[in-house]
Amino acid sequence: MQSFRKELWFNTLTRRAFINITQQVESCIHESGIREGLVLVNAMHITASVFINDDESGLHHDFEVWLEKLVPEKPYSQYKHNGFEDNADAHLKRTIMGREVVVAISEGKLDVGPWEQIFYGEFDGMRKKRVLVKIIGQ
Ligand code: ZN
Repeated sequence: MQSFRKELWFNTLTRRAFINITQQVESCIHESGIREGLVLVNAMHITASVFINDDESGLHHDFEVWLEKLVPEKPYSQYKHNGFEDNADAHLKRTIMGREVVVAISEGKLDVGPWEQIFYGEFDGMRKKRVLVKIIGQ
């Protein structure tokens, strides 16, 4: 069995963002030389997510509106966590959207459905944060 590890770094210009990282994950698979196996992609921060969904701007808007309804960013004072920080909503949004995805690799490629794309979900951005890509297989 072979293994491969790489970190992808992000620094968004906005507090919240969805970034399609499918191509970057595919590049990691290519670099690893692994043809059959699994790829784990996880956010290494507790205010960011990795998830799979459609790359469609209307849907991304819907996610933003839905998450803001569930856990609005403001007023900051509504959350106990916001003593020294203002990112309680980001912790909660991350929990809803998930920490990681695991995807099969078949014949050297991501084995996903036709509309499945991998996203980095940022909920407390404007600083450097990273995603782990770990690949195992042969
Ligand atoms: Zn916090």
